[in-house]
Amino acid sequence: MQGDRPNPMQRRPLLWTALVLLVVALLAMLVWLAGRYELSQIQSRLERDAADAVTDVQATLARNAQSLLGLPVGEAGPGAWTDEARAMLRQNRELVRIERRDSAMKLLDHVDTPYRPPVFDRLGHDVAQAEAAQACAAARRLSGPAYTSSFFAPSVDGLGVEIMSLCVPLEAAGRPGGYLVASYSLHEVLGSLAAGPHTRGYELAFTEGDGTRLAMRVLPRRGNRVFTAQHLLDLPGANLVLRLDSWRGTPDLFPNVLTALVATMSMGLLSVMALLGKDARRRLKAERDLADALAFRKAMEDSLVTGLRARDLQGRITYVNPAFCLMVGFSAEELLGHGIPAPYWPPEFVGEYQQRQAIRMAGNLPPREGYESVFMRKDGTRFPVLIIEAPLINAQGRQTGWMSAFLDISEQRRVEELSRTSQDRLQATARLATVGEMASLLSHELNQPLAAISSYATGSLNLLQQASPTAPDLSVDMALAMQRIAQQAERAGKVIKSVHDFVRRRDQARAPIAPRALLDDILPLINLQARKLSVRVEIEVESDLPPVICDGTMVEQVLLNLARNAMQAMDHGAITDRLLRIQVARVRGAGAAHWIEFRVADRGLGIAPTVEPQLFTPFFTTKDEGMGLGLSLCRTVVEQHGGALVFEPNVPQGTVFTFTLPVARVESPQAA
Ligand code: ADP
Repeated sequence: MQGDRPNPMQRRPLLWTALVLLVVALLAMLVWLAGRYELSQIQSRLERDAADAVTDVQATLARNAQSLLGLPVGEAGPGAWTDEARAMLRQNRELVRIERRDSAMKLLDHVDTPYRPPVFDRLGHDVAQAEAAQACAAARRLSGPAYTSSFFAPSVDGLGVEIMSLCVPLEAAGRPGGYLVASYSLHEVLGSLAAGPHTRGYELAFTEGDGTRLAMRVLPRRGNRVFTAQHLLDLPGANLVLRLDSWRGTPDLFPNVLTALVATMSMGLLSVMALLGKDARRRLKAERDLADALAFRKAMEDSLVTGLRARDLQGRITYVNPAFCLMVGFSAEELLGHGIPAPYWPPEFVGEYQQRQAIRMAGNLPPREGYESVFMRKDGTRFPVLIIEAPLINAQGRQTGWMSAFLDISEQRRVEELSRTSQDRLQATARLATVGEMASLLSHELNQPLAAISSYATGSLNLLQQASPTAPDLSVDMALAMQRIAQQAERAGKVIKSVHDFVRRRDQARAPIAPRALLDDILPLINLQARKLSVRVEIEVESDLPPVICDGTMVEQVLLNLARNAMQAMDHGAITDRLLRIQVARVRGAGAAHWIEFRVADRGLGIAPTVEPQLFTPFFTTKDEGMGLGLSLCRTVVEQHGGALVFEPNVPQGTVFTFTLPVARVESPQAA
């Protein structure tokens, strides 16, 4: 994640912010548009209703004008006109007064509405007169009804009424015959209009062109937002504007279904976006964790000194770590994808390794503790490796190959070899030291046969000198003396051989050996010392013992060391019962059937508590001429064989040293 390219991790929050802003803006715009659309719907309906209402008003006015013309004038007499006009006023609430005037505008007759006090009784008569005269002039000109502009007629009750009059010219026998003037209360016109189908729920008003209100019908307001539509009521001689106001409640967040739908969908979209954002955050975290885990894994693999290699089921290398490359000297590029035989297989082992590979491919698991093999570096040198293999299982639980770990064990081998050589040398030194200690014993032991040989030789010489050559018994005596000499020489030879056998380095191979044979080999040497120290030696070997698997020379030295220590421990003036007992038996107890126990018991002074902790420390000794190596070597040897060397006090006195050796796997009863 380096370089000049913008880091996607940093860019991502920016993109998300932009997306959220865009979506929020889009949704807000949608809601706003939906609201606006709805408002425009209301407005256009209002406009339509206003136009319809104007049409209604015009129709009513036209109908009334027609009815006025139908009133009986002249022939039926003045009474008939009054009756008809009154009936008409009763039927049309909006009409407040009907007058009949002659051609000079002189009032002939009039009728007032029964629903309110007469409008012109107190005031406004003159205004009405003037307006009516103007309208009638226009009507005469037009030869049809004409209207006055509206004017205010104050009434007796202190209120007033906005009036608009209509003048209809009358004709009598083809000549102008006076006028009918009908006055409308604009308020009542609105009242009759409000009962119509188009204007229900609206506030209605008549205004002048400049917006001055003339008459209005107010309703209780249901909201604080007003929609207004105005429509011109065009009448001959007068122009009025009909204004419709619709009050609605605002703010109304969900004024109608469309807006509600858009708003709901917006909220849904926002919720989905929030969920997506949460999901993206979770993914981001998982990605980051994964990257951390990968970095951790890579650091771990790179720091490993253990070589790692993965192979697919066809044996092709799919992965190697730096330690493995370093081990074999090939680069990762040279190794990856390489099949069988691998470049680091020594040519002489290719056949064997291929066979091993085939066994692996057949699905046989390699040993868990690993196995040893030999690899070849790029420069051709061979080196031993310890390989631990395990099947490579993928996330679906299917095996996709093998993962192997390699340890270069050449250094380990070198150290083992070194320690084995030094151990050997130490053993040899200890053996020579033992021989050195025995030198005096040897001279003493050899003295006897040599003295005997010498005395037999002297005796024989004397015989030869004294006797006559013909004496018949001479040859018999001589033969006897020679026989004795030979016997003693053989005895001396045996002593020498026993020491020689012991000192000579023998092969260190482990082999099954009968316990008895181990004892027999060192018995002459034990006896040698036992005789000198006046120690009785008792050997007890359990019958039918199986052979033990051991390095005979080493175990013999252990036995000899322990026996020698035991005899030396009894070399004390106060000890009269000097008995060295060596016992060999099977170990009893569960799980112990495969072990043989050797016990070397003495009746010496025992081991002092101060000496005990240091007993097995190399070079610890309490003896003047001791080396202090015996017990430490004994323990090493026994432990190398898998056994244990321990000691305990003997009864009634002295010490018992016990060690165990494993039984050879193939038991043979005869071998014991
Ligand atoms: P070294 O015999 O050369 O002294 P060892 O390692 O064989 O060396 O013995 C160490 C010491 O352990 C001896 O010096 C002796 O004090 C003590 N020791 C060994 N075996 C016995 C025994 N059977 N009884 C008493 N003391 C013993």
